[in-house]
Amino acid sequence: MTETTPAVPSSAPVFTTRSPATGEPLAEHPVTGAEEIAAATARGRTLQTAWGALPPARRKEHLLRWKKAVATDLDTVARTISEETGKPVGDAALEVVLTLEHLAWAARNAHRVLRRRKVRTGLFTVHQRASLVHRPLGVVGVIGPWNYPLYTPMGSIGYALAAGNAVVFKPSELTPGTGVLLAELFDAAVPAHAGLLTTVTGPASTGDALTRSGVDKLAFTGSPGTARKVMAVCAETLTPFLAECGGKDAVIVTADADLSAAADAIVWGALSNAGQTCAGVERVYAVREIHTELCERVVERASALRPGAAADSAYGPMTLAGQVGVVERHVSGAVSAGARALLGGPESVSAPYVAPVVLTGVPEDAAAMTEETFGPVVAINAVADVDEAVERANASRYALGAAVFCRGGRSGAAIAARLRAGAVSVNSVLGFAAVPALPFGGSRDSGFGRIHGEEGLRAFTAVQSTTVQRFTPPLALTSFEVPAATRERAVRMARSLHRRR
Ligand code: NAD
Repeated sequence: MTETTPAVPSSAPVFTTRSPATGEPLAEHPVTGAEEIAAATARGRTLQTAWGALPPARRKEHLLRWKKAVATDLDTVARTISEETGKPVGDAALEVVLTLEHLAWAARNAHRVLRRRKVRTGLFTVHQRASLVHRPLGVVGVIGPWNYPLYTPMGSIGYALAAGNAVVFKPSELTPGTGVLLAELFDAAVPAHAGLLTTVTGPASTGDALTRSGVDKLAFTGSPGTARKVMAVCAETLTPFLAECGGKDAVIVTADADLSAAADAIVWGALSNAGQTCAGVERVYAVREIHTELCERVVERASALRPGAAADSAYGPMTLAGQVGVVERHVSGAVSAGARALLGGPESVSAPYVAPVVLTGVPEDAAAMTEETFGPVVAINAVADVDEAVERANASRYALGAAVFCRGGRSGAAIAARLRAGAVSVNSVLGFAAVPALPFGGSRDSGFGRIHGEEGLRAFTAVQSTTVQRFTPPLALTSFEVPAATRERAVRMARSLHRRR
């Protein structure tokens, strides 16, 4: 047991993780209870004082050392992710690479983004020197999902640590080993601040206890239903809350798009990670002129892909056993409602695997178009024009990511500007996820707040505004000693100034 793991009594209950592919047991982890979590949060608060007081260059150095440790142990981390999620180890390795890019960016940019900066004063405040600084919050609680068990929570963990906070992390009960390894690597790389990142393992009750443990902010990634419950608990103590939830991302394909590139990206965006990607492709709106050709190209590529447990499988099993039923319901429901299955169908579901499914003509009110499917299923509907495509794309209760395929980046950007999504890729899918400087997050049922980028660093800080009076102003107004004539003169000046324009 590392110092990061709270002292869980040996009598504490444990839970067993299992391979989603075979059902074989992988490891046992403690169900961390409310008392241990409260202790972890309290310890984080103590350790944060020294971490937050470090010169920024030292903090950066420590975080880059941690990054180096993760890179050095990339194979072990990728293997752990692969075992726990079932995704091919090559995909897991890419997840680690993406995470390293983000951690490097957060470490290198935190000081520039958060340091004290001066702001201009106004006519009546020329005697003040004004500045603001972003200060750490203290202890940030992070609750993570299982689909990208490293990359997704690190969007909060890495940025919160870089901003000077301590973190208590509750990984999904399906992927606790990845979280435990992450904290162990931190302790080994940064022994002087061991325990600053604590991983607590357990099911929903552990997440609930973390939410109630007195953290200064709770960063949640998961489904909108759980987000609502966690947010309600945060509301009791006015604990700030950040929600990264699901998506129902749309891709718009225009008549002049490169259909080969669009089909390639749609297939990858919809099927990689068995479709278990919050910003994965679930809906495609293709203008009528190219709809048939696009469908053919997507089907041709998708029909060559097979899920499986082998290292070279296109994708793995459904990680969450219960999700198989959701996928089956969406596909069967769409077909019964009149959709055409161009590839696969309800018979593609053979737990724990789901072979690729391509649907068309799916009624817009079918669950396959309105709810997050989170499986290797894509619906490609024909639309009259770009206006209809934009309207349908925006008619979702989710608003996370989106993509546009068209000739020329400029017209793509113009379509992107009409989409409600929090992030849009033109002529690629998920392009934004690999650019650490770009904030990520959504609205509506996709949540609120942003991780990544400058906004993602500021999300884990509280801004403090400061004024320092440089001299006694000729028009001092904040005193009972101010003569009425002075006040009237100030009002006259302001009135004439603001009337001008
Ligand atoms: P989930 O909502 O079931 O669980 C998420 C986490 O919350 C888990 O760690 C779980 O143990 C915990 N939890 C459950 N009940 C809780 C409670 N009452 N109090 C505190 N914690 C509780 O989600 P999941 O199935 O793990 O993840 C899949 C979902 O996550 C999908 O909807 C997916 O789209 C979304 N997701 C979003 C992003 C994003 O960045 N927007 C990224 C990845 C996944």
